[in-house]
Amino acid sequence: MNRIEINFERCKGCYLCVDACPKHLIEQGKELNACGYYPARPTAETTCTACALCATVCPDCAIEVFKEVEATPAKAAGASKVQPEGIKSCG
Ligand code: SF4
Ligand code: SF4
Repeated sequence: MNRIEINFERCKGCYLCVDACPKHLIEQGKELNACGYYPARPTAETTCTACALCATVCPDCAIEVFKEVEATPAKAAGASKVQPEGIKSCG
């Protein structure tokens, strides 16, 4: 299953990712982080396409995207990290 992880302390609560997700899979969280923001969080829906639009627009590099990969004889099934286009490294 594709999924995202949002770094709770790094998120500044701008919600650009909320607007960017075409599947509406990100929402404002209800808990304050140490900086006094309400970080975004993934919804319970499981229809993420791992398009990485959310991670691409995040100005704080707080989102990691994981895409499900199918098992092959040489490799076990699992999730691999997706690097947003145009971003070489963050943090
Ligand atoms: S775009 Fe980044 S900083 Fe802004 S709400 Fe989303 S995760 Fe937080
Ligand atoms: S990777 Fe794409 S579908 Fe998944 S949460 Fe981010 S913007 Fe939405």
